[in-house]
Amino acid sequence: MTLSTAQLRSIPKVELHRHLDCSMRWSTVTEIAKTLKMDLSSHPVHHRKDFLVMDPMVNLEAVLKKFLNTQKILSSEEILTRLAYEASEDAYNENTVMVEFRYAPSFILDGHSNLSFEKILSAFQKGLDMAEEKLGISTGLIGILQRIKPLNEATKIMDQFCEHKSSFVGVDLADNEEGFDPLPFAPLFQKAKKQGLHITIHSGESPNVQAGQWILDSINHLGAQRIGHGIQSIHHPKVIQTLIDQNITLEICPYSNWLTQAFPTFESHPIKNLFNQNVPITLGADDPGVFTSSLTDDYEIAHRVHGFTVDDFKKVNQTAFKASFLPEAKKKKWESLFL
Ligand SMILES: [Zn+2]
Repeated sequence: MTLSTAQLRSIPKVELHRHLDCSMRWSTVTEIAKTLKMDLSSHPVHHRKDFLVMDPMVNLEAVLKKFLNTQKILSSEEILTRLAYEASEDAYNENTVMVEFRYAPSFILDGHSNLSFEKILSAFQKGLDMAEEKLGISTGLIGILQRIKPLNEATKIMDQFCEHKSSFVGVDLADNEEGFDPLPFAPLFQKAKKQGLHITIHSGESPNVQAGQWILDSINHLGAQRIGHGIQSIHHPKVIQTLIDQNITLEICPYSNWLTQAFPTFESHPIKNLFNQNVPITLGADDPGVFTSSLTDDYEIAHRVHGFTVDDFKKVNQTAFKASFLPEAKKKKWESLFL
């Protein structure tokens, strides 16, 4: 049975992989860019190209420029609160009932000395609280360390996550893995685990001969309970077996994987293969703001290209529900939908 976009949108969802600092609405971006008097292309028609990644990446420099423009938008507490509320509302409009948002304080702080770790956290939290109250959606925050930052900076930020552990459901390590091995970060994540924070790690996203080892290191040494992407595991049977044996969930974002060219086409994406091998998988939108996409687009790819059925999506969301880091009290509300 072919499902319409509306039917895909209406499936009750749990989303585990969405970057809050890259989930802004285009209409909000243009409005804020105007008030910040940002130096953009001279013609409004080209503004989209200043921010959005709409085609598969060929030029990393051009993409980084877009992320820096996005960073400029994240300039005040009011804006962060608005973005958190709108991102929750966008998720709610796709019938996502539980969503975990993640962000890297260092990415925002790099562009804005007027902000602080605490200011960013309370501004985002305010937006999420408003959304929970008005829309009934359940939300949680994951704190990201950027692996491209010096270890001493990452250590300081991990200490802050631990200090504010009641505001985070988990911690993550993100950015390009090449040249930034997970192992040096192991003591930081072991510390977070002792503090009761859950752990997910971006690993095995892009093709690399070491991708399988990085995924295993993330699980065995950083204590990852979930892996962000992890799709390169498809080339490593031993890694696949570990994911199954230890019930490690992959947070898969097919549209993002195509844009970053982790796989050259939607057809060659291993999502169905992993699902058929009983690897626990979930679907996420990653950076829907910068990619001008939605989670429903990822469902479209899974359905139209890989033949995922309503029952398959049910299983995917059941997996996401079980693997969610949200506290039991928040999960209880949605139990009947997913168990
Ligand atoms: Zn991500």
